[in-house]
Amino acid sequence: MAQVYYEKETNQEVLNGKTVAVIGYGSQGHAQAQNLRDSGIQVVIGLRPGRSWEQAKQDGFEVLTVDEAVKRADVVQLLMPDEVQARVYQAQVAPNLKPGSALFFSHGFNIHFGQIEPPADVDVVLIAPKGPGHLVRRVFVEGFGVPALIAVHQDASGQAKQLGLAYAWGIGGTRAGVIETTFKEETETDLFGEQAVLCGGVSQLVKQGFETLTDAGYQPEVAYFECLHELKLIVDLMYEEGLAGMRYSISDTAEYGDYVSGKRVVGEASRKAMQEVLADIQDGTFAKRWIAENEAGRKEFNRIREEEATHSLETVGKKLRQTMAWIDKDEKNKVTDPTA
Ligand code: NDP
Ligand code: MG
Ligand code: MG
Repeated sequence: MAQVYYEKETNQEVLNGKTVAVIGYGSQGHAQAQNLRDSGIQVVIGLRPGRSWEQAKQDGFEVLTVDEAVKRADVVQLLMPDEVQARVYQAQVAPNLKPGSALFFSHGFNIHFGQIEPPADVDVVLIAPKGPGHLVRRVFVEGFGVPALIAVHQDASGQAKQLGLAYAWGIGGTRAGVIETTFKEETETDLFGEQAVLCGGVSQLVKQGFETLTDAGYQPEVAYFECLHELKLIVDLMYEEGLAGMRYSISDTAEYGDYVSGKRVVGEASRKAMQEVLADIQDGTFAKRWIAENEAGRKEFNRIREEEATHSLETVGKKLRQTMAWIDKDEKNKVTDPTA
């Protein structure tokens, strides 16, 4: 059984008198920084001049260069995109990191794949909220929390885990439960989940279903509702009551079709492909490819992004969604990366 920590196992006092530098003020950065501040913890933000810098200042934070923020900090939380963290770490974080301080992450990629190698005299801790940044903030304001993962890679101070739990308390994680894991497990399961199921798997399922119907001559609007729009209603049932609960709510015809046809679509071949995807994650093949893609200027990434964004599923969806008054059009409330 997984070890789960709650507020009662947490000693917030280990953060007393300490300063947390949150490096990056995007999805996770703004949420974690604001939650920590509301919990009474001293926070500074480390950034480069630009959009996020202005936003953090407007939100009332002390904003510094990355070098200055790290110099001031007892705890440094790296919340820049994973693919830029190693570069900024080498140039601006490592030279300014105080001995005896702590380096925090919200995803294990750079430590697990050896892109960042911290000195032996700092704690290295993972606190990964299992939800997108905007939810981490919204749920906290409502008095609840998003569950989080905790892992200790290096315990120089002898209190790395206590420090991690206190940080998790500060962002609201201990209200929902903080599950103990390792950098390896968090990194590999996070990548597998987003590739095989949550993002890659679901997007392809939707797209292939949509194309199968439109290729067979059905109206794209009808195909859109069947293969994409209704997905949310089904997933909401799964989220609240599991697969069995979802099947209780649908018709018996749908349930029988689920049993006999589902595994014809996602069956043994997909299981084998999932195992291959997992193996590529475990042996570092995927990480190497993503790092090389970034170094080469993201040509493949940008090309596929463009192709996917102009697919007929997107054109028809955009038109249909304009008439759906209940969908929140405010960019600020948009959920950006529910997967990490
Ligand atoms: P975002 O892309 O939302 O935010 C990036 C931030 O980093 C921006 O404020 C950006 O500022 C800043 N930044 C980029 N480059 C630099 C630089 N060279 N120097 C200083 N600041 C820079 O990141 P996320 O919040 O999505 O991800 C942060 C971490 O959290 C990652 O490790 C991710 O895996 C993890 N995570 C993310 C989740 C999510 O919900 N998104 C969920 C759980 C974990 P600027 O405006 O200047 O570009
Ligand atoms: Mg139906
Ligand atoms: Mg992720």
